[in-house]
Amino acid sequence: MSNTEQTLSIIKPDAVERNLVEKIKNIFVKNNLNIKDSKKLHLTKDEAAEFYKVHQSKPFYNDLCTYLSSGPIVVMILEGENAVMSYRKLMGATNPKDAEENTIRKLYGISIDKNSVHGSDSLDNASKEIRFFFKN
Ligand code: UDP
Ligand code: MG
Repeated sequence: MSNTEQTLSIIKPDAVERNLVEKIKNIFVKNNLNIKDSKKLHLTKDEAAEFYKVHQSKPFYNDLCTYLSSGPIVVMILEGENAVMSYRKLMGATNPKDAEENTIRKLYGISIDKNSVHGSDSLDNASKEIRFFFKN
């Protein structure tokens, strides 16, 4: 039975800066994650803080928000079979050091904070995060 889902991807400032957008988009498409919408933008720190609100009690929250707002990002809606979990798997572990071979974070991540990409962690958060960036 098919289970088409949508999830939210962000190419973070470290990867945009290193001109990895087209390479990462090609990885998505090769892995049957179709790009339904895409835009480049630069968040304010307040917007980054709103996006990452679930992490507000974490010690890394302030640095995370500073980082996400430090330069342009590319946000995308990805669609495909079991897109939420299939994209999480393709992204790899949060810390690139722990990420499996051929995952995006293993290939391109620099460190636990500069780990190149974001992906929604559940179907519910995917729809919230898609709405955050793609309100109609
Ligand atoms: N992060 C960090 N330090 C940590 C844990 C996380 O800087 O100790 C950053 C990292 O960039 C990560 C983001 O916070 O991608 C959100 O953390 P989460 O646990 O949700 O990881 P993810 O879902 O991105 O794998
Ligand atoms: Mg997360």
